Amino acid sequence: MSNVSFDQFIEKFRSTLAEIFGEKQNFKETSMNRGVPGLIMRDILECNPLSVFIPEEFEGRGGDVAECLKVLETASYYSLPISLMTGINGALFLQPLSIYGQEPMKREAFGNFIRKKNMGGLMITEPKYGSDALHMQTSYEETEKGYRIQGLKHWAGLTGWADYWLLTARKKNANGELARDIDFFIHRKADNGIQVEEMYNNLGLYMLPYGRNRINAEVDTTSKLKPKSTGVKMMLDILHRSRLQFPGMGIGFLKRMMDEAVQHCEKRFVGGQSLINYDQVKERISQMQSYFTTVSAMCAYTAEKAKMTVDLSRADVQANAIKTTVTDYMQEAAQSLLQLVGAKGYKVDHIAGKAIVDSRPFQIFEGSNDILYQQISESVIKSMRRAKTTNLFEYLKSFELSEKSAGYVRKVLDFEIDYSLSQRKLVELGKALSRVVSLNFVLDLGERGFDSAHIKNSIDQLTQEISQMIHSYSGKVETAVVYSDSASSDWMRFMNNK
Ligand SMILES: Cc1cc2nc3c(=O)[nH]c(=O)nc-3n(C[C@H](O)[C@H](O)[C@H](O)COP(=O)(O)OP(=O)(O)OC[C@H]3O[C@@H](n4cnc5c(N)ncnc54)[C@H](O)[C@@H]3O)c2cc1C
Repeated sequence: MSNVSFDQFIEKFRSTLAEIFGEKQNFKETSMNRGVPGLIMRDILECNPLSVFIPEEFEGRGGDVAECLKVLETASYYSLPISLMTGINGALFLQPLSIYGQEPMKREAFGNFIRKKNMGGLMITEPKYGSDALHMQTSYEETEKGYRIQGLKHWAGLTGWADYWLLTARKKNANGELARDIDFFIHRKADNGIQVEEMYNNLGLYMLPYGRNRINAEVDTTSKLKPKSTGVKMMLDILHRSRLQFPGMGIGFLKRMMDEAVQHCEKRFVGGQSLINYDQVKERISQMQSYFTTVSAMCAYTAEKAKMTVDLSRADVQANAIKTTVTDYMQEAAQSLLQLVGAKGYKVDHIAGKAIVDSRPFQIFEGSNDILYQQISESVIKSMRRAKTTNLFEYLKSFELSEKSAGYVRKVLDFEIDYSLSQRKLVELGKALSRVVSLNFVLDLGERGFDSAHIKNSIDQLTQEISQMIHSYSGKVETAVVYSDSASSDWMRFMNNK
């Protein structure tokens, strides 16, 4: 397979998707359709999109991150769910197996992905432990054959479909207590012991199945992933690697939003002229264009810096900045498209409405954006403490992820930081910091010759966002949650001439 050039490979994938989801619309997602018809899935998997995530020695294309991103991009232009399906298989199953798996399991699973078109996903989340995943209650004990894993997991993408699962669990000791560390195990369908208790009616992403799974399964010793140090560090490496690849899923989607918006606005006449001539419309479209450029810069960064050989367990700031920014942009772009298309976009089978519900959970899964923004600030403030500086600009101008961009926003960043900020301030500051890091990626891309008009547009957009976010950070008021009885807050009781 690897003797097929990447250009030929990706063109075959693109034209297959275009046939399925494009003009002819062989497959039209409507409110009535859940899942993907078998023949359509067969056509997609026949193109071997998952082979880019598989090492060459196991018949894959070699795990080149640039190729992985391009496959995600190509899929997300035509279908965000198909791109997410590819991302789940790639970043949440095949890449972790490549890096931490044992030889016999790799040989078996990779072989089955290539030849039998198998699929795999990752189960971390539990009904009582989502954001607080480190306290998960799924446990494992050693057995003669290997390990028995017991627990309850939900919301794992590909529920009921996957042939392989990456299961996370904590070791139960002789007293029944759970260890602090997290371990990962490969479960194959043939091992049995995963029962789907309920399928969920997910709001969007209709093609993908989600649900709740009861686990009581025994797996053999070769199924355990081997961390290089602790299991938590392995989990961070896996999650950061996945977050760094979100731009692959984001960029095709953003390009599609942009193309749909331009096409619509050129054709639609309102008040005697084309929509595209209105200033407000121009602002929305140029914003989408800037998102596209910024996310292109993130792709270039990831392709170079997040290679499979690099340990990413400490790459929290860049991974979290990229994941939050790209997913906020996806949602913003979808909202803008629906605004521009107007009522027609509100039909359930129009791409604009679908795009809003399909992109929304990207801001929630793999780290809720609210929490990731807070963590970005905490990480930067921790380093500032270590460097014994309180001036944000002073720190950012020599931080490797902002050394180029800090100067562009010096005026707004030149202030003293309080080391003990409220959570809401940490979140707002984290938003600004993620844009400062993104601006650094854009400047890097610009230096290499990327279209200068697009780079300028993206610099303007990001500097504007940073200054608005810092403004909002410094103006934050500690509003409190009010608890009162409903009678004292019923406006009708307070009319003057009742
Ligand atoms: C479409 C979709 C796909 C998913 N795919 C997978 C998958 O493949 N595998 C998997 O294991 N899981 C998956 N998940 C689960 C996802 O990772 C969790 O939903 C996510 O981690 C949040 O957990 P939760 O839903 O329990 O929310 P909670 O943990 O209850 O958090 C809800 C919200 O509360 C707020 N919050 C939580 N903690 C804090 C805090 N400390 N400070 C301030 N605010 C806070 C945040 O706003 C957060 O968004 C998926 C979810 C969805 C919707």
